[in-house]
Amino acid sequence: MYPRRLSKVINIGLVQVGGRSPISVQSMTKTDTRDAAATIRQIRELEDRGCEIIRVAVPDSQAAGTLTKIKRGINIPLIADIHFDHHLALKALSAGVDGLRLNPGNISEASKVSEIVKVAKERQTPIRIGVNAGSLPPPAVSGQTIPQRMVATAMRHIKLLEDLNFDLIKVSLKAFDVPTAIEAYQDIAVKIPYPLHLGITEAGTPRAGVIRSAAGIGTLLYLGIGDTIRVSLTTTPHEEVAAGYDILKSLNLRERGPILVSCPTCGRCEADVIVLAEQVEKMLQKTSKSLRVAVMGCVVNGPGEAKDADIGIACGKGKAILFKKGKQLAVVAENEILVRLMREIEEM
Ligand code: SF4
Repeated sequence: MYPRRLSKVINIGLVQVGGRSPISVQSMTKTDTRDAAATIRQIRELEDRGCEIIRVAVPDSQAAGTLTKIKRGINIPLIADIHFDHHLALKALSAGVDGLRLNPGNISEASKVSEIVKVAKERQTPIRIGVNAGSLPPPAVSGQTIPQRMVATAMRHIKLLEDLNFDLIKVSLKAFDVPTAIEAYQDIAVKIPYPLHLGITEAGTPRAGVIRSAAGIGTLLYLGIGDTIRVSLTTTPHEEVAAGYDILKSLNLRERGPILVSCPTCGRCEADVIVLAEQVEKMLQKTSKSLRVAVMGCVVNGPGEAKDADIGIACGKGKAILFKKGKQLAVVAENEILVRLMREIEEM
């Protein structure tokens, strides 16, 4: 792992972002923001799954009018996602949102940007400049690559805020194309002091989207770049949060709940490890302990291969060896594996 890029620290509500703060997991609601009850319900479900910052779309004045109620009904910082209309930004700020996602360069008049910044400064509310590869303005300089245009757009928007002495800034440069996003983030990471929010936009349905996001977000995090992340998936936001933690856990950047180590199985395997691993994975959803649990297909290599696991099983014909930290604990019958494993985990 490369050392983390140490950005300026900002506070999104009670969540510290940047510097050495934990890389936080964000998501975005998929309800109609005008339906405050449904939006609050979804946010609270996401809170239970570990979502640390939530963004809601604010497409119109009615949606902006629900933000106070939504804010009161939830426990994590609320970010209002606003495009073009500065009235919506002002309304969101007066509703007490913890952050704005806004591109100041998309607001036509300088006086309107300065009106928003004045209130954001008074309230110490950060603004995320969120540039997307799919909605870039025409290039200012011919021959620029997409990543260069993304960075140039962000820099132009950042300058608008800096010229107003506003520095509670977070930046994202999202693209569907993974190398494009990586290149853009790497470039801007050395140009600005602000924290970076990572995402691969329109990443797709769960399987493809998680892989694209893991490749893009994972690479950047490995390079030490990134302070908050969102996995964008065409499915419920609950899966976005789980995938976000899985990426962070894969890089040993966060701990949250168990990690399942399971072997791919091979010709040595004498048990149905594929089914067993699925059952164990489901069972582990009941615990929040940060443990590594291994499900291995044979007694020959199982304990050795899973020596980093806290607890696990190595299957044989009709039975399995239960081991802790690579050491044998007991031999259990096949039909007792799940119950015994769970009991041991509860005791740990
Ligand atoms: Fe094959 Fe055993 Fe390794 Fe599983 S643990 S892949 S069954 S050798």
